Amino acid sequence: MNTPASPTLARPRRGSLPSPFPSVLLAWLLAIGSWPLALAAQAPSTPTKRPVVLATFATLHSWTLNVAGPDADVELLLPGDVGPHDFQLKPQDLRRIRKADVIIANGLGVESWLDKAIRNNARDAAKKVVRVTDGISKEQFIYHLPELELADPKKGSGSGHGHGHDHAHDHEAAGEVPNPHVWLDPVLARHAISNIVVALGAADPEHRAAYAARGEAYSARLESLHRDMAAALSPHAGKPIVTFHDAFPYLCRRYGMELVGVVEEVPAVDPSPKYLARLSAAIRSRKVRVVFSEPQFNPRLVRQLGKDLGITVAELDVLETGKPGAALYEEGMRRNLKALVESLP
Ligand SMILES: [Zn+2]
Repeated sequence: MNTPASPTLARPRRGSLPSPFPSVLLAWLLAIGSWPLALAAQAPSTPTKRPVVLATFATLHSWTLNVAGPDADVELLLPGDVGPHDFQLKPQDLRRIRKADVIIANGLGVESWLDKAIRNNARDAAKKVVRVTDGISKEQFIYHLPELELADPKKGSGSGHGHGHDHAHDHEAAGEVPNPHVWLDPVLARHAISNIVVALGAADPEHRAAYAARGEAYSARLESLHRDMAAALSPHAGKPIVTFHDAFPYLCRRYGMELVGVVEEVPAVDPSPKYLARLSAAIRSRKVRVVFSEPQFNPRLVRQLGKDLGITVAELDVLETGKPGAALYEEGMRRNLKALVESLP
C-alpha cells in the first residue's frame, strides 16, 4: 500500500513523535489501512495536532473559545482569579507562551508582562502574538478619564486635560497609550472577534471557514447584546456614575452615561484622603446617585463612600477575571446591564 501524503498532513509542525512504532505494529496498521497513524509513524510531524491558542485573560479566553469551537485548543494564561493588571509571569507561563501557536492579547499596555517576557526570553514568540485591539481607529480610543468636575469649575483641579475633545493625534504624538478597557463596549468587542477569526484562520487554514462561521455567529450574538443594552440604557442616558477603577469609559460612552470619576485614582493604589474628598465633592455637586464596586477588588472603600454620601452601591464586573468559559463575556455583560438598570435612579 502506498498512501500519498496530502498537503494538509505535510504542513510543518513543531515537535515529533516520541519513538518509532514497532515494525510489527506498523505492518499491522498498514495492513488495516490506518494511514494517518502510519504516516505519523513515518514522518516527524503530528498530522492531527490542533493549534494551541493561548488567551491572556478571561474575556479574551471566552471570545476565543467561541471562535475556535472544536478546532483549536484554547488555553487561558492567567489563573481565573488573577487580573492582567497585577499578574506576575512565572517560568511555567513562559513555557506555555513558547508552546502556543497563537497568543491572543488585548494590547494597549494590559499585558506589559507579556511584552517584557517576549523581549527578554522568547523573542520568537513575538510573531505569534495577536492583539485584538489592532485596527481600531484612533478616533475611537479614549485617552483620559474626565477630570473631577465640580459644580463651580473654579473649584476643579484645573490640571491639563479637558473632556469631550480628546484629539487622538495629539495623544499619539505625545506617546500616550489609550485606555485599554475596550472590551467592555460590545461594539468594539465585535472588532476584536474579527481579529481572532483572522488569527485562527491564519494559524489553521484547514479550518478557516469554520472559524469564520463561528466568528460570525458569535458576532451576531454580541450585536444583539449591544441592542439589548442600548434599549435598556437609553432611559438612563446622561446619568452620572462613579466606578471603582478606570475600566468603564468605553461602556459609558457607548450608552450615554456620564462617568464622573473613579475611586482608584491610580490603578492598584489606595486613593489619598485628599483625592477622596475631591471625588466626594464631585459626587455631591454632580448629583451622582450610584457608585460601582468591582468583584475583583475589595469593596470596602466604595461601601464607605456610599455610606458617607448616602448613595447606592452596586457592582460592575470588568471581566478581567471570572469563571473561565465560552459564556463568561456575554453573561458578565448581561449581569452588568442588570446592575446598571437596577441601580440607576
Ligand atoms: Zn482594568
